[in-house]
Amino acid sequence: MEMVSKKYVYFFGEGKKEMKNLLGGKGANLSEMTNIGLPVPYGFTITTEVCNLFYELGKKYPKGMDDQIDENLKKLEEKMGMVFGDEENPLLVSVRSGAAISMPGMMDTVLNLGLNDKTIKALIEKTKNERFAWDSYRRFVQMFGDVVMGVEHDSFEEALQARKDKKKVKYDTELDAEDLKGLVEDYKKIIKKAKGKSFPQDPREQLKMSIDAVFGSWNNKRAISYRNLHDIPHNIGTAVNVQVMVFGNMGKSSGTGVAFTRDPATGKDEFYGEYLMNAQGEDVVAGIRTPKHISKLEKEMPDIYKQLIDIRRKLEDHYRDMQDVEFTIQEGKLYMLQTRTGKRTASAALRIAVDMVDKKYIDKKTAVTRVEPQMLDQLLHKQLDIKAKHKSELLAKGLPASPGAALGRVVFDADSAVEEAKNGNVILVRTETSPEDIQGMAAAQGILTARGGMTSHAAVVARGMGKCCVAGAEDIKVFESKKYFKVNGKQIKKYDWITLDGSTGEIFVGKIPVVDPVLGEDFKKFMSWVDDYRKLGVRTNADTPNDSKVAISFGAEGIGLCRTEHMFFEADRIKAVRKMIVAGNREEREKALAKLLPMQKKDFIEIFKVMNDLPVTIRLLDPPLHEFLPNEDEDIKEIAGELGLKFDELKATINALHEINPMLGHRGCRLSITYPEILEMQVRAIFEATVDLIRKKYKVKPEVMIPLVGTVREVKVLKEQIIKIADSIMKKENLKFDYKVGTMIEIPRACVTADEIAKEAEFFSFGTNDLTQMTFGFSRDDSGKFLPDYLEKGILDKDPFATLDKDGVGQLIKMAVEKGRKVRKNLKIGICGEHGGDPSSVEFCHMVGMDYVSCSPYRIPIARLAAAHAALKEKEKKNS
Ligand code: ADP
Ligand code: MG
Ligand code: MG
Repeated sequence: MEMVSKKYVYFFGEGKKEMKNLLGGKGANLSEMTNIGLPVPYGFTITTEVCNLFYELGKKYPKGMDDQIDENLKKLEEKMGMVFGDEENPLLVSVRSGAAISMPGMMDTVLNLGLNDKTIKALIEKTKNERFAWDSYRRFVQMFGDVVMGVEHDSFEEALQARKDKKKVKYDTELDAEDLKGLVEDYKKIIKKAKGKSFPQDPREQLKMSIDAVFGSWNNKRAISYRNLHDIPHNIGTAVNVQVMVFGNMGKSSGTGVAFTRDPATGKDEFYGEYLMNAQGEDVVAGIRTPKHISKLEKEMPDIYKQLIDIRRKLEDHYRDMQDVEFTIQEGKLYMLQTRTGKRTASAALRIAVDMVDKKYIDKKTAVTRVEPQMLDQLLHKQLDIKAKHKSELLAKGLPASPGAALGRVVFDADSAVEEAKNGNVILVRTETSPEDIQGMAAAQGILTARGGMTSHAAVVARGMGKCCVAGAEDIKVFESKKYFKVNGKQIKKYDWITLDGSTGEIFVGKIPVVDPVLGEDFKKFMSWVDDYRKLGVRTNADTPNDSKVAISFGAEGIGLCRTEHMFFEADRIKAVRKMIVAGNREEREKALAKLLPMQKKDFIEIFKVMNDLPVTIRLLDPPLHEFLPNEDEDIKEIAGELGLKFDELKATINALHEINPMLGHRGCRLSITYPEILEMQVRAIFEATVDLIRKKYKVKPEVMIPLVGTVREVKVLKEQIIKIADSIMKKENLKFDYKVGTMIEIPRACVTADEIAKEAEFFSFGTNDLTQMTFGFSRDDSGKFLPDYLEKGILDKDPFATLDKDGVGQLIKMAVEKGRKVRKNLKIGICGEHGGDPSSVEFCHMVGMDYVSCSPYRIPIARLAAAHAALKEKEKKNS
């Protein structure tokens, strides 16, 4: 029995918009537009399934496909009353690629297919327009030669330029039929010379070669790397669309254009677009002539304009989203050639989402899913004035480490940054930054480093501060002591002005004006919907009252990580901190700590005040102590003087504190084990601040967090000490207060023994920076040396310090959550690493059932939206 072959080809109208996976985005929407009665030239779509079979069968087509193409071609001919390859009434088509997800790496479109040395005569005869006919032919030979046969695009451009030069004209529209006819011959010769093969005259062969080329392009290098970059699966395939040609290049009453149903920059409900008369295909976007604003069409062709306005409404009514369309006018008649969801800026996305809900086009849930979390980043930072930026001199480019814009005078050390910032904006420029630079970084408008990656100290700290940072600008050589940097033969000195764009990594000479972010009504309304859907709480990582305030304005529901050590770097305290560190015995150390106590207490009071009844998780001292001490002899000398020590003495102490592997050394809770008096001071400061504020009617919710725990006994010992301090304060003050004691989970052993640890800990907070570092055995500060190779060679898909490694680190987290909750049902669980603000990591946190994520203030809206998306996605999965 003869098998009925599968349907491989769909005539426009047989498909619908929901069939994107099978017909590709372009094909599905061409069918949809046909179905809703829009003027779409006839055509058909060869499915994405054929693309996959093509590769499975070793670049052969499934049986029956050729017949289906013939049938559909016949149908086209009948509808048009024309015949493909006919010498009197030839049908011409375009061949267009189109995957389910739009992909610039794919084959370009071929227009005017079906022309050859014979059919051209019929086209001339029929249109009585010799120039148009030759223009169409030369475009076809060029496109075919370029995208199907693989001849250098430039060689065609050169030939065209030569013809224009010879005639001393500027635009291709100024070439006449003779010139274009000559150009066709030029092009054919170019093809023959480059490929040793002639341009094919048989239309069926032209069509077959073009279809081959589209499917072939699915696995070209450009397409593969585009898919890798954008997480598009490699097995979804592309479709091929074959469509009857309409001509925008037939003269004055013809033209072509692109339009958006709304303004894609602002989201305003206003028709937006550009067109060119007497032009074809990509001419508008290719910039060969300057296109006109769509509003001009109203005067030029009022009927067409009115039709377009109707179509604009019809499309939005139908798709319920902003559309991006292509149209062509052939001798006063309008045709639609494409529609798809229009790309838009973040503010446009919000405007459109809110407006469409207001107009009852979509519900709130749909509105929430339409905005990508990462997009919100654009809204939260200062930006360079676009026009001024284009006019400015680009100095170099580094990594876009922390978004926003900054301009200021260059300084080369943290102290100068602090000092000069009093007189105006400064940019701190360093080869790389270290914890000693924190004050300077805080004082600077922006930070520029010559070395380091997206997770370098400068990048992480700057993102935390919401401060613009360009990191790893390799072309720059910084001479810190000589106070200048060199780049591409140019020298920039201390106090010279530069401008940074942290969103692109660009560095400019001089001042470029910046514009402030405005979080308007749309943002507020939209975010309130977001909060209705999310289940995860969103807290912030904040160390100062100011960060806390910013975080609250962005919707933080508490502090998930307050790092006490950042407070230690402030100018008025670092001395006491250093005294504490170099103290020879407990007595001396306690003396130094006694000086720090009131300062820490004041910090906590201020932060508690801002957060009022929201929980505040405070981490006990975490970094290795030598980070607080100077490195250079010059500085050691100075500090020895200040501390009343001898240079040699201090130097010896510093040397003694030196560790071979500080990240695995004397840090975290190990500090409190060795020096219980440090913990004592910090905990006292926290609880005394609590008492003070409770007396003033604040509701304080302190949570003391023990870092770098590996065994439950560490927790037990320290928790007992914390409880003792709390009890003594309560007794002395005759006042009761609530508090929690919990742990960071950032050592694999803590995950594996989480059930033990949960017996003591009242909450877990995953410190995924360290947990990632320790699970992979990658030093975060050194990973810049090898991670790029890992990514390039495909050993890792993503930088695990930026996106949580779900298969490894994530499994440890999952295990810890399960084990922890088994022992303590109401165990509060959150995350406070860099990942807390990364959308896909947030989704993971939702899936494993955490209570909250904590991230830097400027990522809070992103985390809120990502949490809503995660919850909606889960619901949808359950329903299907
Ligand atoms: P892309 O995906 O790069 O936008 P398209 O397949 O949409 O490629 O086509 C490129 C250009 O050619 C567009 O301007 C499109 O409108 C035009 N075009 C495609 N098919 C036809 C056709 N049958 N008639 C006229 N113009 C066409
Ligand atoms: Mg297109
Ligand atoms: Mg840590």
